[in-house]
Amino acid sequence: MILGIPKESAAGEHRVALIPESVARLVKAGVSVRVERGAGLAAGFPDSAYEAAGATLGDAAAALSADLVCKVQKPSPAEAARMTKGAHLISLLAPSTSTESIAALDAQGVTAFALELVPRITRAQSMDVLSSQATVAGYKAVLIGASASPKFLPMLTTAAGTIAPSKVCVLGAGVAGLQAIATARRLGAVVSGFDIRAAAAEQIRSLGATVVAQDLIAADSETAGGYAKEQTKEQQDAIQQALRDHLKGMDMVITTAQIPGRAAPRLISTDTVKTMAPGAVIVDLAAESGGNCEATKAGETVDVHGVHVIGPVNLPATMPFHASQMLSRNILTFIQHMLQKDGTLKVDRTDEITGAMIVTGRAA
Ligand code: NAD
Repeated sequence: MILGIPKESAAGEHRVALIPESVARLVKAGVSVRVERGAGLAAGFPDSAYEAAGATLGDAAAALSADLVCKVQKPSPAEAARMTKGAHLISLLAPSTSTESIAALDAQGVTAFALELVPRITRAQSMDVLSSQATVAGYKAVLIGASASPKFLPMLTTAAGTIAPSKVCVLGAGVAGLQAIATARRLGAVVSGFDIRAAAAEQIRSLGATVVAQDLIAADSETAGGYAKEQTKEQQDAIQQALRDHLKGMDMVITTAQIPGRAAPRLISTDTVKTMAPGAVIVDLAAESGGNCEATKAGETVDVHGVHVIGPVNLPATMPFHASQMLSRNILTFIQHMLQKDGTLKVDRTDEITGAMIVTGRAA
């Protein structure tokens, strides 16, 4: 089997799907790997490292015409047209919004696996790109907030006086939120957190943060899959009200709340932003799915009465070395899950992991 690693073509995408360390393992397992020249360069992995790992360098056409193509972002229509019938594709595919791209891949006879559809089960944890990339986003969100803030995060005792630590609140304590809490704590801030899943409260506390509005967290706020359930309008209003008083005193707020397949829940109204002190910073990690803050604009920083509302997009691509390293290990584990002793793929549509991630050939 020939595996191709094209250079990412989407604007601002600096990650690469597989790094040389993973390529070496695949080559050892009998896979021939073709890498487009320069594919890993923006992430810090030069062509020479891929060659040393046993890969062959080539152009985009060579990588895209492989039996198995591994990408970070979904292929453009032009890239998809260069793939061959019967080939396999492993990539982020945004399956809920990319119906046309998926139909085009399907029509071309490509079997596509959407990395977003990895089941959130223990057996698939090492393949879980949602978790690995959310870890990067949660960490980076705090650094973005810290650099936009006019204040120190830690308490400082200096000859010029004592500086009080910043107060940081993290809304949504899933993978990204817990990493944001841990990062803000490491930087010395006084941190609080909120999540509507009852199980998250203990995790927030275990990182040394306090839990906000715990009395509003219902015991049945979690689905069987461990995700948050969507709330009623009344519940959302009660939470917004409770958060309003708390957020007033915050120097930085990081929001990460998501409901799978739906627009992000609105947790901070513009009126609440206006109650915060000038210089406070809100970093909204849900910007791409509509924002947790009413004032958020994806890809922009909005100034609301001196409060900076930052709506970053695709944060993992801004830390491409480690984001690619983690992504690559996730993808490698998924390939190994399907790889046979002779170096070919066996796609078992009845398998709990493989079957859940296939988005083409549903009729097969
Ligand atoms: P996510 O990105 O879908 O959501 C982020 C967080 O926002 C979640 O914690 C969610 O509860 C919270 N949220 C949603 N609506 C909210 C609201 N109105 N107010 C406040 N918070 C709100 O979630 P995620 O980080 O991908 O993970 C969700 C859960 O799945 C976590 O419990 C996580 O530990 C679990 N998980 C399990 C596995 C596994 O077993 N393989 C892997 C990854 C995650």
